[in-house]
Amino acid sequence: MSDCVFCKIIKGEIPSTGIYEDEVVKVFLNINPASRGHLLVIPKEHFKNVLDCPDEILSHIIKISKKIAKLAKEKLGADAINIANNSGKEAGQEVFHLHFHVVPRYKGDGMRLDFISKKDLKDDLEEIKKIIIS
Ligand code: 5GP
Ligand code: ZN
Repeated sequence: MSDCVFCKIIKGEIPSTGIYEDEVVKVFLNINPASRGHLLVIPKEHFKNVLDCPDEILSHIIKISKKIAKLAKEKLGADAINIANNSGKEAGQEVFHLHFHVVPRYKGDGMRLDFISKKDLKDDLEEIKKIIIS
């Protein structure tokens, strides 16, 4: 896509600090990191998010995210890792080219990624189940 910032990164039209690439994916450092070594794993082909990405490509992205997560732990001394994806504007997606965040976490870094529970939604589980599986 011509107006997509990540497609431009793939084409080399916008600079990025790449740390890995193969035929399917590119991995580079986030320009606005949430932690030291915050990386983005993206497919070279443009997909909007996980929902329109073919399974084989998605599987490869996850496989590489795991490899990168291990590297971050070993080389940067991270204590833990968040692998996250935002699919859709309401889920926080800002760049509409599929990407997975690989976020190294450090003891005491204070970052919170909680899904805060809403008590009034608790009773709906059976109802929600019926809707999903019907
Ligand atoms: P989203 O909110 O869509 O899940 O995350 C998009 C991420 O892309 C943001 O964390 C943002 O910092 C990062 N980002 C946006 N533009 C650029 C860019 O030009 N270069 C790099 N390296 N990261 C970018
Ligand atoms: Zn794109």
